[in-house]
Amino acid sequence: MADRLRISELFYSIQGESTRAGLPCAFIRLSGCNLRCTYCDSRYTWDEPGQKMTTGRITDWLKDFPGVMVEITGGEPLLQEAVYPLMEELLADGHEVLIETSGSMNIEQVPPQVGVIMDLKCPGSGMMDKNDWHNLAALHSRRKLGSRDEIKFVLSSVRDYTWAGRIVREHRLADLVPVLFSPVIDQLAPDLLARLIMEEQLPVRLQLQLHSQIWPNIKRGV
Ligand code: SF4
Repeated sequence: MADRLRISELFYSIQGESTRAGLPCAFIRLSGCNLRCTYCDSRYTWDEPGQKMTTGRITDWLKDFPGVMVEITGGEPLLQEAVYPLMEELLADGHEVLIETSGSMNIEQVPPQVGVIMDLKCPGSGMMDKNDWHNLAALHSRRKLGSRDEIKFVLSSVRDYTWAGRIVREHRLADLVPVLFSPVIDQLAPDLLARLIMEEQLPVRLQLQLHSQIWPNIKRGV
């Protein structure tokens, strides 16, 4: 059915991975992903089937959090067609809406009022060849419409940092949207990443997963 989504989990937490980090946020985590990143910390979204829900059931759940910021995430949320009417409904209900996407799916149909947090997959993810580079043009178009989008690089090595820095400079990404550099904690030390960013005066934000620091032992629902 057109208004049914496969949901991995619904939860209320603190936004932890964007320029809105620290704000209360209701999360709608969709099941399924077309990628298999080496460092994936939410495998349960694609190796468990999830639960089918109507948009009505999701918006009913949100009634407990009136006016709260809502983030749709995954998995890869743009794989499910019903995510588009869901976004429209959340906007109509007055929520600020974010969507986190892997960068492998075209973002052109995402309403401009929705803030896209888009990954660009680095070599260490094993998924670099899945980046849809047309999305950079889409980000330019959306910016003219007033969108508040962001690009995130998840870095697992100095090699990833070097690659990402080159992409940021070549495409002048920092003139387009806020750019986040987020280290995979067990693979790239934050102090090393900080030093590299400072040495090159790269106009990016070092981003540590806030929820992982608040709740280090909780892997779901935060
Ligand atoms: S895109 Fe996200 S959910 Fe999918 S495999 Fe990569 S890290 Fe995991």
